[in-house]
Amino acid sequence: MRILKMLILPLITSSLMSGLSSMESKACCRMGVLTVTYYLWTTFIAVVVGIVLVLIIKPGYGTHMESFRLGGGQVITSADALLDLVRNMIPSNLIEATFQQYKTDIIPIIKTPANTGRPTFVYLMPDEDNPKGRTVMLELTPPPDIEYKTRPGSSQQMNVLGIVIFSATMGLLLGKMGERGAPLVSVCQCINECVMKIINAAVWYFPFGIIFLVAGKILDMSDPSTLGKKLGWYGVTVMAGLFVHGLILLPFFYFILTRKNPFTFIRGLLQAMVIALATSSSSATLPITMKCLLENCRVDRQIARFVLPVGATINMDGTALYEAVAAIFIAQVNEYELDFGQLVTISITATAASIGAAGIPQAGLVTMVIVLTSVGLPADDITLIVAIDWILDRFRTMINVLGDALAAGIIGHLCRKDFPPDRAAKANGAAQD
Ligand code: ASP
Repeated sequence: MRILKMLILPLITSSLMSGLSSMESKACCRMGVLTVTYYLWTTFIAVVVGIVLVLIIKPGYGTHMESFRLGGGQVITSADALLDLVRNMIPSNLIEATFQQYKTDIIPIIKTPANTGRPTFVYLMPDEDNPKGRTVMLELTPPPDIEYKTRPGSSQQMNVLGIVIFSATMGLLLGKMGERGAPLVSVCQCINECVMKIINAAVWYFPFGIIFLVAGKILDMSDPSTLGKKLGWYGVTVMAGLFVHGLILLPFFYFILTRKNPFTFIRGLLQAMVIALATSSSSATLPITMKCLLENCRVDRQIARFVLPVGATINMDGTALYEAVAAIFIAQVNEYELDFGQLVTISITATAASIGAAGIPQAGLVTMVIVLTSVGLPADDITLIVAIDWILDRFRTMINVLGDALAAGIIGHLCRKDFPPDRAAKANGAAQD
């Protein structure tokens, strides 16, 4: 968990700043607006599909887990959470944003007074009336006849949304600066490359970490076999969502916007799909996706060069869907009732979290923390789903790649006047030379 958390900041800043800096000339403006609008729309639809399915299937219900909770009910109102989201879009201090605590966050600290031997839960709550952030302390000692388990609080999280917005703005401006911005863009590309290398190395360690994390979690459950079953249903829910989104909704959008057969287009992408399944990384699949688009699907090179890398950075329909399902699953396992406002918060934060995730294996697991903390769920419960994440990651990566490729087909069709076929042929020919 510490490795994952350590990588959030460099991952988001470098991938967004280098990815968006390729939006440089004015001619790309229309394509840029269309691409970003389409990406946001499809990601949001993916989240909605996930939320609807997880609420219908309810994979997490019935697993009783003793959990640490304030008064057994909700502690953060949805209005608070939504306002937090808006406030966090523009951090007043960027450095502070990297370790900012959500205003509504509650941190339980466990003290064991020497005289009683029973722990006291101390809640540190930011004082709403004091903008300087003084904290209010609430002390509660559980009654002696109650069995309790303790868990550390979610503690401080960085303001990822604020950092995403800042980095995206910087990326766009760097692109506009052209030559003068190029040195910083290449610094960002180098950082991005290094971060990816660290993650690739960390992935080898994950199995060991997972064994201990999951073993600890399973021992925590009153009935471990129930957890296994619930995890299975959780996996089925994610897969069903990916199927509906990738093979029904996205092809439907493609057909509506281009009037062409989406499945002919998808057939041309088979090679990229297999690589996505094998590598769990949409970035690693990028060269093959590009090849499939140019050779099999005949998409304009300029469109593909712009739409695909931006998509690999910000468009992750599969990841967004999975994050929404996973957050609601964790809420269900904790018997935590989510109201409508919290579902809206989850849909917005899952969209933002998928935008912040890089196209590398299990990046979605890193940004999952934002979704959980936005509705007051314990970030440490990511360990509940980590056991089957490696397999779900492969399938959500396929949908991420499919979403980017179909977007390139759609944008290519919508911008065909700006990029006529003769120009496209010339560009393709020049590249081959
Ligand atoms: N592995 C995914 C990708 O590369 C990202 C994720 O959801 O973890 O697209």
